[in-house]
Amino acid sequence: MPSEQAVPFLDLLTSHDEMSAELDDAFRAVVSDSAFVGGRYVDAFERQWATYCGTREAIGVANGTDALVLALRAIGVGPGAEVIVPANTFIATAAAVVACGARPRFVDVDPETLLITADDIGSALTSRCRAIIVVHLYGQMADMPSILKVADDAGVPVLEDAAQAHGATWAGRRAGSWGVAGCFSFYPSKNLGALGDAGAVVTNDMNVAAAIRSLANHGRAPDDPDLHVHVGVNSRLDGLQAALLSAKLVSLDRWNAARRSVVKRYRAECADLPVQFVREDGDGVPVHYVAPIRVQSRDEVRRLLRGRGIDTKVHYPVPCHLQPCFREFSGQRLPVVEAAAQGLLSLPLSPTMSAEQVDSVCAALREAVNTTQDTRPVRQPGG
Ligand SMILES: *Cc1c(COP(=O)(O)O)cnc(C)c1O
Repeated sequence: MPSEQAVPFLDLLTSHDEMSAELDDAFRAVVSDSAFVGGRYVDAFERQWATYCGTREAIGVANGTDALVLALRAIGVGPGAEVIVPANTFIATAAAVVACGARPRFVDVDPETLLITADDIGSALTSRCRAIIVVHLYGQMADMPSILKVADDAGVPVLEDAAQAHGATWAGRRAGSWGVAGCFSFYPSKNLGALGDAGAVVTNDMNVAAAIRSLANHGRAPDDPDLHVHVGVNSRLDGLQAALLSAKLVSLDRWNAARRSVVKRYRAECADLPVQFVREDGDGVPVHYVAPIRVQSRDEVRRLLRGRGIDTKVHYPVPCHLQPCFREFSGQRLPVVEAAAQGLLSLPLSPTMSAEQVDSVCAALREAVNTTQDTRPVRQPGG
């Protein structure tokens, strides 16, 4: 019997403790320079993030939702437009579309990867479609080459919601660098997280970059802060968050590799259990923002795990097209997303998780699955 231990869904404290000197230094540097909004720490992080993603520009903004709204506005999405969005995503992807005055057009996803595909997009394209938002969900990139082909043929720009995919690649190229712009959140739980809210947009298009910089800073003209060329918003990155992000970026690749090891161990230890991991596509290297499985009697399994001190979440229990706030945009049934939502369960995952913790989760999961299966009224043939 493996040793019992409680496992939190995400442990931020251990990684922050490991780098407390660097975080303290970053804090002191920003305070002594009084560089609180914009300034050298924001400039430095923007350069580092663009380099990391392999893009010409990165623009720091207040959060990931604003990154999406500002990128949509910068490419001209507004009232009357339709934007294709996968129904299996965090609410903010679709809320950003509505915030621009446009209509989300929800589409289904691949049954095994749970990611949006070129086929899903192809069958949802209309003459009103002005953008496609591809979500690299759970840390895995969607198949961008085939999606870009369909989008390019239709003349529709693609935005990447890479809020769960910091550092993920497809054919060696980073998430966020494929579409007209890539949107990131640095919410604390993300693979690269600030110590508060923060976000960024990356792009190779200098006009899009300039539009986002202006819109995020009260619509200011680039060369005259007293001239406002757009009705903008205040969505700037704090110097403090930028300095903390720069300190943490040094460890991102190491943390992503550690996440991959944890998921590899989960897959090996759970190989004989009646649970299904999402399929990983050959050309992609995922960064595992979360580790979702699909399991029968999900809610009961979850409750049993909670009883053993194992903390889990569900990404996402209610698909976007079934959310009350999007009622007016939900025309049709999306069977893959709806079926998946019943069984999804995200296991604990932190870059600092030990092998013993992974084994504890697997042992508790094994017991929970056995219990829920034994109480099923109809048994599997031969079961
Ligand atoms: C976290 C997240 C966002 C929103 O980011 P915030 O910084 O919380 O505004 C958007 N899309 C996805 C897929 C996310 O996971």
